[in-house]
Amino acid sequence: MDGSPASLPPAATRPRVVILGRPNVGKSTLFNRLVGKRLALVDDQPGVTRDRREAEAQLFDLAFTIVDTAGLEEAEVESLEGRMRLQSAAALKGADVALFVVDARAGLTEGDRHFGRWLREEAGVPVVVVANKAEGRAGEPGLYEAFELGFGDPVPFSAEHGEGLADLFEALAPLLPAPGDGAWADAGGRQGEPSPEEAARPLELAIVGRPNAGKSTLINRLLGENRLLTGPEAGITRDSIRIPWVHRGRPVNLIDTAGQRRQAKVTDRLERLAVRDAERAVDFAEVVVLLLDATRGLEAQDLRIADRVLGEGRALLVVLNKWDAAVDQSRLFNGVKAALEEGLAQVKGVPLLTASGLTGKGLDQLIDAAFATRERWSRRVPTAALNRWFEGALARNPPPAPGGRRIKLRYITQARTRPPTFILFGNRLEELPQSYVRYLVNSLRAELDLEGVPIRLNLRSRKNPYAP
Ligand code: GDP
Repeated sequence: MDGSPASLPPAATRPRVVILGRPNVGKSTLFNRLVGKRLALVDDQPGVTRDRREAEAQLFDLAFTIVDTAGLEEAEVESLEGRMRLQSAAALKGADVALFVVDARAGLTEGDRHFGRWLREEAGVPVVVVANKAEGRAGEPGLYEAFELGFGDPVPFSAEHGEGLADLFEALAPLLPAPGDGAWADAGGRQGEPSPEEAARPLELAIVGRPNAGKSTLINRLLGENRLLTGPEAGITRDSIRIPWVHRGRPVNLIDTAGQRRQAKVTDRLERLAVRDAERAVDFAEVVVLLLDATRGLEAQDLRIADRVLGEGRALLVVLNKWDAAVDQSRLFNGVKAALEEGLAQVKGVPLLTASGLTGKGLDQLIDAAFATRERWSRRVPTAALNRWFEGALARNPPPAPGGRRIKLRYITQARTRPPTFILFGNRLEELPQSYVRYLVNSLRAELDLEGVPIRLNLRSRKNPYAP
């Protein structure tokens, strides 16, 4: 499930990134990497001679138009430099960023240096040097030389091996508007809010729980009270169905993986099947509702199921079902709430609701909460808010300094939604203690309104090219 296509701005408003450099440094391979196989193949017709190719590219959450000037490769050697400049000048018109590709294996050539000087004068846009073919040791000397071009740190890259995408992202991200920012706001919808299409998309919902938690009763009640769009659709998997219905004007697809379970007889098998149902459900659901039997409370098996759901990055709601039959309700509720916080240490604030499939009480709230949870799970945190939070979190609790040298956290960006996934850039991140990573994730969740949502935080250490 990839939420990114919905958030892409239309092509006309995307920033333009142009690839420059002399022949054979790997411009086309880089172009193909950024575009992806499918599109590149369409363009790669043999015998088609063109000065430039353009395509829509995606690098994590950055969407941009990429322009390749590989047509240069066919230039006559003696006129190469002149043609390079002519070509590049044309391609730079309307560009937002230039990628200046050099060959790290070959090292800098005189041509690269000349062209670099020309670019510094004429480019008019930020230039990022990409030291391509940098895989392995053979690329090291060229990488160091690339610093001499004077465009800041070169990005070590291997277009052929697909290495260095994160480094390239780090170099490009500050130079391009993030989706939904500024110039893109008109096209991409307001940041931090679901687009109308997103809100209208059916909620993919699964209801799981141990045998006798009351799943069948609750599902029958939900479907009985609501308008079914069509009959169940068989076959997401062999044992599952998808039931499309409408709840108070909003479409919901109920994913029911319990077909097999209903036929089973033996209890311990039922228990195992409940876990399996839940595992299959998360493959298709955006939000998973875990039903607990309020007459029994929270049991170890429930935590196991909840853990799997969150581990798969899905949004989770916990519901104390059979609330009509619960005794000592407030103590029960508080006890389960505390046990969830304790037992699901990786995700704080998983919503806990009460309902009765038998009487229908609490079911509207349940569906409302499921939509709200999906919204948080799909949310793109505005860049400004993310940066503000980051600065504050580091100021309140600076990262540790093992061996007397403070670990440097430089930059954070949201790479994906569904679930919210962030990349943290810095130095020596492999030395960052787990407790500090937890601090960051919990603080991010609490302050940016992502309660109950699994958050992924990937750490990216900047390789120091001068390190031994
Ligand atoms: P499933 O195995 O999870 O599908 O559970 P069922 O829906 O078959 O329900 C198991 C038992 O719990 C049945 O005896 C139901 O009548 C009972 N039950 C289900 N929902 C409720 C409820 O909301 N309140 C009460 N008091 N009993 C319920």
